[in-house]
Amino acid sequence: MKRVAVIVFVLALIVSAIFIFFPKTKEIIGLDTGPPLIGIQPYGNIADREVDSVKNSIEKMYGFEVVVLNKVDLPEMAYTEIRYPRYRADSLLHWLTYHHPDSIDIAVGLTNQDISITKYKEGTREVKDPEWMYKDFGIFGLGSVGGNACVVSSNRLHKNVSSKTFYKRLMRITCHEVGHVLGLRHCPEPNCLMNDANESIKTIDNSTGDLCQDCWADI
Ligand SMILES: [Zn+2]
Ligand SMILES: [Zn+2]
Repeated sequence: MKRVAVIVFVLALIVSAIFIFFPKTKEIIGLDTGPPLIGIQPYGNIADREVDSVKNSIEKMYGFEVVVLNKVDLPEMAYTEIRYPRYRADSLLHWLTYHHPDSIDIAVGLTNQDISITKYKEGTREVKDPEWMYKDFGIFGLGSVGGNACVVSSNRLHKNVSSKTFYKRLMRITCHEVGHVLGLRHCPEPNCLMNDANESIKTIDNSTGDLCQDCWADI
């Protein structure tokens, strides 16, 4: 009887040790999280065709499930007149983080209004030169690296181009911003979709439209 008690005690110790040293295996983490559910938040009077295009681009590129949330007005708290009447992308990201259903893992805001951010000198909180331009700088989209939200604006994508080019750009910007949310930073590979837009739509137009091998491996 004493021997059985000792064996049980030793077994209990081994089991405890396994849980202490290996609290979560990769499989358990995988089961816990699964692929993210994406929710598109259309703002204002954005065209349904643009919403569909953004939805399709995420489904096709990343294979995630995408749902479309009810349209809402752009939040007043994001409005700015620093240089032009438009909406701050960083404020929209903040708003999206707190205003999407709990069932959604990643929120993708979509607007046809112009959006902007402040651009800083690398690694500082000092506004990039020239300050008049960068304190409120118009952008195509913004995504928080490893966060849970990104925002895309179609406002700057259709100037002097065909409808085909416009939708190609919209899909690419969307997949670039979702890439940031999935943890990707800008990529030095010139044709990779995560290459920095260098403040020009040309980078997006010249991209292959796909992530490079290294970026795919990092997701
Ligand atoms: Zn980027
Ligand atoms: Zn890359």
